[in-house]
Amino acid sequence: MNNCIFCKIKDKEIPAKLEYESNNVIAFADVNPIAPVHILIIPTRHIESMNDIDENNSSIISEMFEVAVSIAKQKGISEGGYKLLIRTGEHGGQEVPHIHLHLIGGAKLQEDISPVVVK
Ligand code: 5GP
Ligand code: ZN
Repeated sequence: MNNCIFCKIKDKEIPAKLEYESNNVIAFADVNPIAPVHILIIPTRHIESMNDIDENNSSIISEMFEVAVSIAKQKGISEGGYKLLIRTGEHGGQEVPHIHLHLIGGAKLQEDISPVVVK
C-alpha cells in the first residue's frame, strides 16, 4: 500500500490548494509556506527522489520546471524573481520521499546556501 502523502494529495485523499493539474504533473500550495508564494510541483507518478531519475524518466523533470515557470508568470513573480529547489535525501533535507520542486517567491528571499556543513 502506498502511504505517500503527496500521492494521497494527487489522489485527492488529502486536501490541498491545487494550482495546476495534468496527466504527468500537479502543483499545490505548500501547507507551511516560507514566502508569499510557495508552491510544490510534483510528478503524478511516485518517484522517490532525484536519485531515481535516469534517461528513461528525466523528461518529467523538465515538465516540472516548465510548470513552475508558467505558475511563476501566472502569479506575477517572474520579473521580481524566485527560487526553485529540489531537496534530495537526508543530507539534502528532503522530508517527503516523493520528488517535489519548490517554487518560492513573492518577496526578496534570504540567502540560504551557506558553506556551513551540519555536524
Ligand atoms: P522537503 O523538506 O521535503 O523539501 O519539503 C517538504 C515540503 O512539503 C515542506 O515545505 C512541507 O511544508 C510540505 N508539506 C508536508 N506535508 C504537506 C501536506 O500534507 N500538504 C502540503 N500542501 N504540503 C506539505
Ligand atoms: Zn508518492
